[in-house]
Amino acid sequence: MTKRIFRAIITVAMVVLLACLVLVMGVLYNYFTDVQLEQLRIETTLAGQGVTNEGESYFEGLDVRGYRITWIDQEGNVLYDTSMNPGDMENHLEREEVKEAIDVGFGESVRFSNTLMKRSVYSAQLLGDGTVIRVSDEQNSIIQLFFGMIQPLFFVIVAMLAIALFMASKVSKLVVAPLNNLDLDNPLENENVDELAPFMRRIHSQQRQLRIQEIELGKRKEEFEAVTKSMSEGLLLLNRDGDVLSINKAASEILGVSEFVAGKNILVVSRILEFRKIAQAALEGNIIERIIEINERDYQIDANPIYANDEISGAVVLFFDVTEKNQAEQMRREFTANVSHELKTPLHSISGCAELLLNDIVKPEDTKQFTGQIYTEAQRMMTLVNDIIYLSQLDEGALDMKRERINVYDVAKETVASLSAEAEKASVTLDLLCEPVCDNITDEYSINGIRRLVSSIVYNLTENAIKYNREGGSVSISVNVEYDDKTYEKYVVLTVSDTGIGIPPEHQARIFERFYRVDKSHSKEVGGTGLGLSIVKHAAKAHNAEISLSSVVGGGTSVEVRFPAGK
Ligand code: ADP
Repeated sequence: MTKRIFRAIITVAMVVLLACLVLVMGVLYNYFTDVQLEQLRIETTLAGQGVTNEGESYFEGLDVRGYRITWIDQEGNVLYDTSMNPGDMENHLEREEVKEAIDVGFGESVRFSNTLMKRSVYSAQLLGDGTVIRVSDEQNSIIQLFFGMIQPLFFVIVAMLAIALFMASKVSKLVVAPLNNLDLDNPLENENVDELAPFMRRIHSQQRQLRIQEIELGKRKEEFEAVTKSMSEGLLLLNRDGDVLSINKAASEILGVSEFVAGKNILVVSRILEFRKIAQAALEGNIIERIIEINERDYQIDANPIYANDEISGAVVLFFDVTEKNQAEQMRREFTANVSHELKTPLHSISGCAELLLNDIVKPEDTKQFTGQIYTEAQRMMTLVNDIIYLSQLDEGALDMKRERINVYDVAKETVASLSAEAEKASVTLDLLCEPVCDNITDEYSINGIRRLVSSIVYNLTENAIKYNREGGSVSISVNVEYDDKTYEKYVVLTVSDTGIGIPPEHQARIFERFYRVDKSHSKEVGGTGLGLSIVKHAAKAHNAEISLSSVVGGGTSVEVRFPAGK
């Protein structure tokens, strides 16, 4: 800007300088011509007086100093000339200045002399004897004048050029200075810039517009971040080069990168090769839907390219945690296989016995044994089917079941009563402990829960304690109250201990799985389905209760269920 103004000023100064020069030269030339004519007039008068007084002798030894003096008679014949031989000269009667001098006594002219081939000024005067004296002088052309003045002109031009440069530099800076000092943050507060007022107003209104847009964008960004932050699914937005535009918390945790990775290239930052391949493919225009394992969890990744004006401008990647879904599917598959397997054995047995009876192959005295086996197997199937139905009910909606205040001690008492016959049959003593006196403190052992589920917990644990006991062994069921040391929350603790066969340590973690049994044949012998502890686990989970187990092979097992008492 400064340079352009500087150049413009210099150009204008040069043009003005040249114009002035031409003008001055013209004026000077005219002035010099006038001065020369004036001089010539004086010289003519002097020469006229000399010739009048002395005649032709006036010319003898005359120093003409560059002038040319011509003496002409009344007919125009040259009588004397200081530069040429009068005999060689033509008649001068028609010369403008001579004519004028004869007519009015004095004449002047400026013209190109054919005789001398130069521009000359002439002055002629009529003398008393009728002759005419003419004095002429060569006149410098304007170019000669210019070259004659070239030296002073050169100095003038150089000086003016220097002044112009200096002034141009000063003026350009002076013009630009207020522009540089403009306060563009507050355009309307600038003073002494009236010429820029429309621009300032425009800038002000555009700044206001920008601020409104900035606030709007900020709001949208906050909304977007609030939504994506609370999403349990991972969301990642990439530009066409793979740089992160936005990443939510879930996605950053899944990929193991910082939440503040925006602006960096995900293909460089992420260490998960398979994910990088998916992102790359999406950026190349492919729609990808794949499940990959990251940190021992399964994620379904949906990656889609984003188009703007038919060109790929980036990609959006969504991460869904499908670990539980996959596990549930896996469990369902295993469960179906197990159920079919468990049902097949009693059905085979029933079908085999029935076939023998049908074909009269069984001796009459053995008939009872066979029908008895059919009955036992059918009973086993019924128990199994009941357990399966119960478990699937728990799977579907234990949390929706009706909750009420339940006294765990009362439930335990009912269970002990219903299992006492079984315990007696197995020669196992059954004790219900409750310190100090349970019956009197009715609400002490109450929890907020589902009666049917609490009952199935106590029943299954006590039944197992009887089933996996030894002859003459004992089972003790206790219900106690405990308080958390830190939160002072109240817990009702149910403990079922036996003096039975115990569970080897390597099986302890798995006995709560469906159909898991330590000794399959022993379990079947005692009428087990392998589902009892799964039911206990589910029912405890519906009450947010914790289960802990301690067992010694040959020494007995103790299972503890800690119910939060609730309000
Ligand atoms: P089951 O119907 O076979 O008893 P459960 O799920 O109730 O199925 O128990 C799973 C397995 O855990 C049993 O088969 C048994 O091997 C073992 N078990 C459970 N309770 C006890 C216990 N009190 N003492 C010893 N083993 C036990």
